[in-house]
Amino acid sequence: LETKLPAVGTTIFTVMSALAAEKGAVNLGQGFPDFDCDPRLVQAVAGAMSQGLNQYPPMAGVPQLRAAVAAKIETMYGRAYDAANEITITAGATQAIITAILAVVRPGDEVIVLDPCYDSYVPNIDLAGGKAVRVPLVPGSFRPDFGKIAAAINSRTRAIIVNSPHNPSATVWTDAEMRQLQELLAPTDVLVISDEVYEHMVFDGQAHQSVARFPGLAARAFIVSSFGKTYHVTGWKVGYVAAPAPLTAEFRKVHQFNVFTVNTPVQHGLAAYMADPRPYLELPAFYQRKRDLFRAGLARTRLRLLPSEGSYFQCVDISDVSDLSEADFCEWVTREIGVAAIPLSAFYGDGFDQRVVRFCFAKKDETLNEALGRLAKL
Ligand code: PMP
Ligand code: GLN
Repeated sequence: LETKLPAVGTTIFTVMSALAAEKGAVNLGQGFPDFDCDPRLVQAVAGAMSQGLNQYPPMAGVPQLRAAVAAKIETMYGRAYDAANEITITAGATQAIITAILAVVRPGDEVIVLDPCYDSYVPNIDLAGGKAVRVPLVPGSFRPDFGKIAAAINSRTRAIIVNSPHNPSATVWTDAEMRQLQELLAPTDVLVISDEVYEHMVFDGQAHQSVARFPGLAARAFIVSSFGKTYHVTGWKVGYVAAPAPLTAEFRKVHQFNVFTVNTPVQHGLAAYMADPRPYLELPAFYQRKRDLFRAGLARTRLRLLPSEGSYFQCVDISDVSDLSEADFCEWVTREIGVAAIPLSAFYGDGFDQRVVRFCFAKKDETLNEALGRLAKL
């Protein structure tokens, strides 16, 4: 069979989670919480099921949930989206991203991604018949290099995918960086796909610079988020896309044929739960405490800590601990030390080895302490 995705195997997250399970390692590889969500959220979903809300919802999503999302975006970022024509509920951010790409990328179009990037972007672009153009973030700091981004833009450039807070580097774009992007794109027709799944995990008093705050970007953007991250329910696979009406219309043409619509009772449960903003407003402090606990323990090892400004990831430089490549180190640390990690090289096109690996700290304190006890040998 001639394969459409010759470079693609099983994702690194699946591979490392399987190895962690086989070896009994503490799994700080794949990003997901090992604690449960708020029981009130479960009750809200169960209540919707008991009330018989179990058939297809409207194609674009349950209206109450779309209204709750629009209200949240307006309160937090100051842009009003029309819930009827500009918000669509998706099967997680994963489906939102591929659907946005399929909706706008034509054969031969170029799409800029910033390396390292989340692993689904490039295969999604390939499936659309587009060409991914990988522009590196600055090695070491993982900040955007606007000179390089500008040099990559040409008449074939259809879109750029940005992701802040960033997986895997845990950097958060500043207001100045967002303004630079806005300025750079102003004279172009380049669309923006903004992956903001970690929008509610930004630390040290910094604010999330949603594309929604920048009119020149928002007018050309699909903004993607995920309830899985925000409410500790990664397995529910529900997210959303906010985009101006003409972009949303194109998005929905594809959405209706790749999922048609998304799980009804979960949408009703989420809509009811979102009436209280505290769960997402309290998330930065919740994860900052875990980050600080984890960093304090890692600081006692020879692993070199990189900044973690947002997301639930912490990257470390392994140079002082090991001569192994990132990929080999991750396998070794899982097998021999009993803690699973993800090599950053998995997020690069060419497997670029910077001696940096990623841990996920969305874990119970006892899990983090167990991992730190094992890592203390390094
Ligand atoms: N984008 C990024 C940057 C992610 O880290 C994730 C979660 N792995 C996703 C998208 C996908 O989110 P979801 O689980 O809602 O599909
Ligand atoms: N987003 C998660 C991560 O980066 C995992 C997603 C997945 O397993 N595909 O670890």
